[in-house]
Amino acid sequence: MNKNKLWFSVYAILVTVTITNAQSFLPPMIEWKGASESLIAKPGNPWITSAERSDFVTTPDYNETINWFKKLSAASPLLTMVSIGKSVEGRDIFMIIASTEENNTPSSLQKSGKPLLLAQAGIHSGEIDGKDAGMMLLRDIAFGNKKDLLNKVNFLFIPILSVDAHERSSPYNRPNQRGPQNQGWRTNAQNLNLNRDYAKLDTKEIRSVIKVINEYDPVLYMDIHVTDGADYQYDITFGGLGLQGNSPGISQWLETIYKPFADKNLIANGHIPGPLLIALNEMDFSRGNVLIAGGPRFSDSYGNMRHMASLLIENHSLKPYKQRVLGTYVLLESTLKILATQGQMLKEITKTDKAIRSVKVPMAWKVPQMKNAVNFENSARLQTSDTSSPVPDTLNLSGMESRILKSKITNADYVEWMGKPVTMKIVNYKGTEPADFITRPKGYWIPASCDEVIARLKLHGIKMTTIPHSLEVKVEMYRITDYTFGDDNQEIQPYEGHMQVNGSTKPETRKQVFPAGSVYISSDQPLGELAMLLLEPMSKDSYFSWGFFLSIFQRTEYIEAYVMEPMAKKMLEESPELQKEFELKKAQDKAFANNQNAILTWFYSKTKYYDDRYLLYPVGREL
Ligand SMILES: [Zn+2]
Repeated sequence: MNKNKLWFSVYAILVTVTITNAQSFLPPMIEWKGASESLIAKPGNPWITSAERSDFVTTPDYNETINWFKKLSAASPLLTMVSIGKSVEGRDIFMIIASTEENNTPSSLQKSGKPLLLAQAGIHSGEIDGKDAGMMLLRDIAFGNKKDLLNKVNFLFIPILSVDAHERSSPYNRPNQRGPQNQGWRTNAQNLNLNRDYAKLDTKEIRSVIKVINEYDPVLYMDIHVTDGADYQYDITFGGLGLQGNSPGISQWLETIYKPFADKNLIANGHIPGPLLIALNEMDFSRGNVLIAGGPRFSDSYGNMRHMASLLIENHSLKPYKQRVLGTYVLLESTLKILATQGQMLKEITKTDKAIRSVKVPMAWKVPQMKNAVNFENSARLQTSDTSSPVPDTLNLSGMESRILKSKITNADYVEWMGKPVTMKIVNYKGTEPADFITRPKGYWIPASCDEVIARLKLHGIKMTTIPHSLEVKVEMYRITDYTFGDDNQEIQPYEGHMQVNGSTKPETRKQVFPAGSVYISSDQPLGELAMLLLEPMSKDSYFSWGFFLSIFQRTEYIEAYVMEPMAKKMLEESPELQKEFELKKAQDKAFANNQNAILTWFYSKTKYYDDRYLLYPVGREL
């Protein structure tokens, strides 16, 4: 290769790299120093983590992480490593049990009476801050000076939940995030988003977590993420659902006891904690913030619906990896500390919330119409078509200056973040008003034919009785009237591996025979509200809405025209009312009047031969 050619090649490579490296287009970075830097292990520490050794440039892969934890837990009597299930590609999803108890079985941990924290990292495996923070904290519990954290608390830690996606590693997976250099992928090996799977339970990963929740019964559950979206000063944002949701005592505890304590510790360590933030208008944060409670497809809402204190942690993607990991460490440590003093109180509060049996249960919470919600993470949280705005309060936002520019490429406006801190008072919509209520039935009857749905309800830990013989029961059932497939925007395309359904319903009182193997689910149980959200067709996270009942939309028996024609003639002769109804329908609906098939089907639907179960949602409500 001659010299000129070589230089051209080098130049070409440089150009490609420069153009494709999104990091160089991120908003300006603000230098950070904080007291939490003292948590980093010194070189020569035999338990220094891989991230510490690289000065937080990289994060260890699955094998390195699991091997490090194997060694750590073998060396420390305080730590036990277990597999909670296998991924679809066969990797163990492992969990560390940190406890001073001699016996680490779920029942012994429960018997100890100590509050139990369950924290998970890497549900979106590119957002892996929690893993590296947990490695450091567990190392310090085992061999540093933090053993006392376990005096009054037990701790479960899942370092990598989305294990397969963690190995789909690349520097090009998270263009809006400052490190680490190697990042996992957002969705699992089946391209399913684990943080949309809590209600439907398609994935082995989330099924494994639900099993842990049911077996160990943690008093607090933390799900650690990294944001996308707007720029602001906060490096760590977190919270529960605020006033939304079905666990008022727990929400109050998170807001008034947990958050002030955690904020104080984070600030003392040089971090900038903030509330969960979603800009009402992604180009202009001064228009307001929205706290949206999604349905139980999301970890935090799911936890709330089943009355388990749950926290969503969103580290800010534009802050450097080191700062984010250290903030997560401080938050995890603060959580163990507050559970030591306030955990028993949280247990009592949880018991009270679990005993609530509201007659009317909201299926959704009002949110204002969002503008420029290009970030799908945010718009996917909308769960109701009721967009009348709730009354907002205000928030002092530690924001960043921004300006709006006109694009020569799209001819539209876009935002530029200037990296200059600004404080502004903005409106804060917190979704305080419930919408779409459902009246609580005594219970639900689910026919044996819905075995897949029954199996998933069981995985949730919902208590049910299976009937050994068939039984006739007086129930209310829903006839589906109008329906569309696809998402709320009427886009007919699959979402998370499902064809979603939106339908209107008309209740019918029926005497329905439920065959042997059918189940009865009483709503008088701690998971009663979760059962309602999974079984009421109006709920956006019900199995109906997720498309588990698509077969009811098909009519499978029919009548020949040579039978229906004379039958229709006889029906009209015998009933002047029917004659009137038929003439009216023809006059009102020209398409009907000119469609032989529609007319004969109309007559067929008025005979006893018509399929009574067509468009009938097969789950019965006992009132
Ligand atoms: Zn995430």
